[in-house]
Amino acid sequence: MDAVEHTFDPVREPGLGRRLALLGVVVGVMAVFRVYALLLGLNLTGTLFVLAPGVLAGLSTIVGIEVGLRWEYRMRRRHTYPHELGCELAPIYQFPAACRRAAKLIAHWLRARAVVVGWLTEDGQLLEPVAVYGFPSGWLKRAPSLSLGDGPLSGTLRQGKLLTRSSTEGDSWFSGGARRERAVYVPLVARGRLEGVLAIAAAGRNPQVRDQRLLAALGVVLSLALDNCRLYEGQRAHAQHLHELNRMKSDFLSTVSHELRTPLTSIMMAAEMLLEEEETRDLQSTRGKLVATIVRGASRLSSLVADLVNISRDDEFKPRLELDSVSIDDLVANAAAIVQPLVAAKHQTIDLKSSAPGTLVRVDRLRFEQVLINLLSNAQRYTPPGGHITVSTRLARGEVILTVADSGPGISPEDRERIFEPFYRGDRSGLGLGLAIAKSLVELHNGRIWVNDSDHHGSEFCVTVPAQTPAKERALVSPATH
Ligand code: ADP
Repeated sequence: MDAVEHTFDPVREPGLGRRLALLGVVVGVMAVFRVYALLLGLNLTGTLFVLAPGVLAGLSTIVGIEVGLRWEYRMRRRHTYPHELGCELAPIYQFPAACRRAAKLIAHWLRARAVVVGWLTEDGQLLEPVAVYGFPSGWLKRAPSLSLGDGPLSGTLRQGKLLTRSSTEGDSWFSGGARRERAVYVPLVARGRLEGVLAIAAAGRNPQVRDQRLLAALGVVLSLALDNCRLYEGQRAHAQHLHELNRMKSDFLSTVSHELRTPLTSIMMAAEMLLEEEETRDLQSTRGKLVATIVRGASRLSSLVADLVNISRDDEFKPRLELDSVSIDDLVANAAAIVQPLVAAKHQTIDLKSSAPGTLVRVDRLRFEQVLINLLSNAQRYTPPGGHITVSTRLARGEVILTVADSGPGISPEDRERIFEPFYRGDRSGLGLGLAIAKSLVELHNGRIWVNDSDHHGSEFCVTVPAQTPAKERALVSPATH
């Protein structure tokens, strides 16, 4: 049997020091006998005569103690095997590797002729060998599976009990061994279910394989470790599957959005040309109104497609920013002007309140406007006709805080947790991308975005962005270096 390298031996083997100490005691006793003989004035023969029983007693003491030490060591060591097995298997995550290691260690510790670790098939009917030790190479490939059926093997193992066969003759796995060999089947039970078996073939008088408590403890530790490996492998496969699905989703979105973009651009251009023509005629005519509707619809579609293109490139949307110093009031006014026609169409109102007029921020104008447009168009969309939207701006601790509040239905506490995730839209229609894109853009500007828990009616979104320190103040804070 190959040597098994131990990484952990909790019981120390009796060492040379202990043995030498014993020898010293015996030699000392004999020296005392010799002095006693000299005192009695005995010659060499007389001395040997006096010494003989002492020598015999000394030798038998040494042999007795040595045997006792070995026995005690083996007894104590045997009961640490379950603990050792746990330590050995803890760092192994792959199920077959853990089975192989366990089979080898257990065969070595218990001095067994052969060990098989078998695992139940999905339908719970067959025990398939996963790892073996003590068999000719290639045996595992052609090893038979054990049918559990309704036989005694199934009954005993399913009750969580050990099954012992006093002979391996006729045994599907162990037949062909010595005449007085026994086979023990230890159930491997995890989360209340029989999952596998640890089968051991050893000499009939092997005291360790007769120790049922030891075998049961080994079975408990082994089933926990193997179940852990299965759970880990299951989780990993699941995560890989999700990753693959996510990749497919991104590919699909990317293809669809790119395919949509080209015809949509043609529609937009044609509709805008038609609108220009209508402006020179009569915009209030039925034709003029229809063309205006086409332009609005097409522009909504192209902004949705742009969102899709942005998010599908990468789940995190990280465009390059072109930073500029911009007045926050201008940004708010521009964004409000863009949604104004939609607001007016629903007889809603927008109020702009600024308590920090003239404050500058360093942002990418178009990208930051996109954040505000996303918030305002949500407010406009979810607020019923005749509703009210307020955008307020204030300065606090070097940050501009922008609040977009509306008199719509508000956002439930469960939705509040998730609305910034891509494609989350609660029970409403839409793509669920606007807020995810707004969050990415705000964070790229070193700002924060959140939705307030508002007890009152409506929702309240907040965005922060660092305020730009006016040039005069900057000069005071950091004097120019020459
Ligand atoms: P969408 O573009 O589909 O509206 P968003 O990411 O902009 O996606 O918003 C995600 C979800 O957050 C919406 O589907 C809606 O349920 C909720 N939501 C966003 N803004 C508001 C708002 N002002 N009032 C009520 N619900 C809102």
